[in-house]
Amino acid sequence: MDFNYERKNVYKEADGKELEAIYDYAEGYKKFLNASKTERDAAKTAEKMALERGYTPFSFDEKLKAGDKRYFINRNKNVFLIKVGTEDIAENGVRIMVAHVDSPRLDLKPNPMYEDSGLCYFKTHYYGGIKKYQWTALPLALHGVVMLRGGERVEVCVGEDEDDPVFYITDILPHLASEQASKPVSKAVSGESLNAVIGGLPSVGEEEEKEAVKAAVLRLLNKKYNMTEVDLQCSELCFVPAGKARDVGFDASLISAYGHDDKVCAYPEMCALFDSEQSPHTIIAIFSDKEEVGSDGATGAQSRVICDVIDTISASFGVNPVVVRYNSKCISADVTAGFDPEYASAYEKRNSCYIHCGAAVSKYTGSRGKSGTNDAGAEFTGWLRDVFEENGVIWQMGELGAIDVGGGGTVAKYFANLGVDTIDVGVPVLSMHAPYELISKADVYALYKACLAFCK
Ligand code: MN
Ligand code: MN
Repeated sequence: MDFNYERKNVYKEADGKELEAIYDYAEGYKKFLNASKTERDAAKTAEKMALERGYTPFSFDEKLKAGDKRYFINRNKNVFLIKVGTEDIAENGVRIMVAHVDSPRLDLKPNPMYEDSGLCYFKTHYYGGIKKYQWTALPLALHGVVMLRGGERVEVCVGEDEDDPVFYITDILPHLASEQASKPVSKAVSGESLNAVIGGLPSVGEEEEKEAVKAAVLRLLNKKYNMTEVDLQCSELCFVPAGKARDVGFDASLISAYGHDDKVCAYPEMCALFDSEQSPHTIIAIFSDKEEVGSDGATGAQSRVICDVIDTISASFGVNPVVVRYNSKCISADVTAGFDPEYASAYEKRNSCYIHCGAAVSKYTGSRGKSGTNDAGAEFTGWLRDVFEENGVIWQMGELGAIDVGGGGTVAKYFANLGVDTIDVGVPVLSMHAPYELISKADVYALYKACLAFCK
């Protein structure tokens, strides 16, 4: 018997067949990721995949029965996938997996459009925790919806197709950057300077126009989307990095992409649900919105909708939803900071999660003496450990960075606050919240196996 604990490397433990499974799984993940850059995109992808697997729309009025498979898309941004099992939900509760599908990005301001010095711009308001300097001088795509008068809804996606134009936020050239270079990195690029170039071709006509570039862009927008400038006030448009997920390294063992946080957890939890049709448990997989800005609002994890879904399931079987919640178990599937040797001082190396070392379990998150966090109980953590070990899941446990260096949170506390046993299980990420983040193929696959074990 080995009395020591040692972290395992998923790649080192894998035989040829397992390695093939890891690389195969990554192909599906990259496809999902490329189609799901925003929460609206992710909701559409999930709906499509659920329909392909025989899921049908959920209704708050219906009476569910064992074997039912339902999906509910809350306001186009928040997904509930529900598989009703055979076991007694009063006694066993439901199994919940929740990941968020919003990622840091640049939203448009309500009056975004202006012209200056021959260029037309969209003003942005950043969404979530970004390092602003990272969002200049790179190709951006525009995603979202615009509501026209009378309720017509127009979907916009420009910059993802190879033939599409992209958008661009400028940075000052190094030759003239002495003032910028003397500032702390947090002030080098201001939020108000994150304005994206959206055009430069002036309109030519009989009458001379004052803002000829803006006028020409508006004409283009009207032609393509039937919209006018004021419609932007009734829109949700955002810039995200243009471009696709790419393998990293000569061995292609890692993936660089926009929005691993938290699609790298959303995809495995959804796959695990789809692959658990034989499970006796009632399982709910949730794609949550607004996590990056506090999980508020009708589509965030603090919304009452999650309780309403559990209430509907409970009512179907004539059981008390309070009892169902109390006996339920939840995996809050979110990313954690992988140990980065280039920035070692931000971590405590014995209590960090490492790239390639499997599903990353965080008993708690928070900051300054565990403030503002769920802290999973020893009993629930121990139960999960046994589940993982019985199913050959490679996993590790760590904290998000060293004490008092910073901190962070996940949706775990909102589910725990409902009286549900909850723990964070995710994937370690390098360069989290950067336009392109880095993860290991081994870890996303390990999380899939972890979610599968939880559903079994
Ligand atoms: Mn996250
Ligand atoms: Mn995040």
